[in-house]
Amino acid sequence: EKFKQGLSKTRDSFTGRVNDLIARYRKVDEEFFEELEEILISADVGVTTVMELIDELKMEVKRRNIQETKEMQAVISEKLVDIYRGSHDELATLNMQPDGLTVILFVGVNGVGKTTTIGKLAHKLKSEGKTVMLAAGDTFRAGAIEQLEVWGERVGVEVIKQSAGSDPAAVMYDAIQAAKARKVNVLLCDTAGRLQNKVNLMKELEKVKRVIEREIPGAPHEVLLVLDATTGQNAMSQAKIFKEATNVTGIVLTKLDGTAKGGIVLAIRNELDIPVKLVGLGEKMDDLQEFDPEQYVYGLFA
Ligand code: GDP
Repeated sequence: EKFKQGLSKTRDSFTGRVNDLIARYRKVDEEFFEELEEILISADVGVTTVMELIDELKMEVKRRNIQETKEMQAVISEKLVDIYRGSHDELATLNMQPDGLTVILFVGVNGVGKTTTIGKLAHKLKSEGKTVMLAAGDTFRAGAIEQLEVWGERVGVEVIKQSAGSDPAAVMYDAIQAAKARKVNVLLCDTAGRLQNKVNLMKELEKVKRVIEREIPGAPHEVLLVLDATTGQNAMSQAKIFKEATNVTGIVLTKLDGTAKGGIVLAIRNELDIPVKLVGLGEKMDDLQEFDPEQYVYGLFA
């Protein structure tokens, strides 16, 4: 239900336009596909992915000898899910360790919703019975540490921090020792999101990762890149940069409630082959959901 509500903007715009298109064209022809292409591009699906999708649709129409546009809604949904999935069958869930400490590193530029996502995920994990700790690794942005502390208090989890300006790798070291000592299940680590200096950012992320790897073999178990869905193709270029800088294992797409352009989900998965693992659908504590492409696509047309 929440998922459906959160997607209302995308649904109203995208589905509304597709349905309108289907109503206006009775026959599936070249003009129909041209308009569909436009709708998909304006929904941020991304040109490369749109081309692929349109080709797939045309092949399917031929294969099944589809004449009437009213049959197209089902075919479009099917192909959207196929494109999203690619060669991946399984649902992309978080890689949680059954025993011992799971470390999740969050990366992304300022303002995308990193801190909020960490707070929400802490709440989600806690409500699943896990013990959680937060590491205030963004020592650069003014107010970042305090903001994480507010979330820590709200959710009721401990936050490990040092003073502003200190070495994020040192914060991580402290946090890991504390998490081990208290036998915590999950450690969620914030990082700085300044992208002005790509080399510095990479160096800092590398250093933070090295500390984590050294202290816990196999960690970090996830490197989650947080992206703001409302920034559209900008989110795509951020994803490319971070993918180069570090081994991103999944994406959290925030503010999906605030955009009519939910197609970015598809573009990121298809063009960068990084799964969307979580989506943010609002600012409140429980506005974070796992991402299921089928539920998403069929939710758009529901
Ligand atoms: P950070 O700089 O990456 O840590 O970003 P913040 O966590 O401070 O978030 C920036 C703003 O985006 C805040 O006002 C959040 O409340 C808001 N925000 C974060 N996630 C979502 C979301 O899923 N939906 C909406 N509508 N707002 C969000």
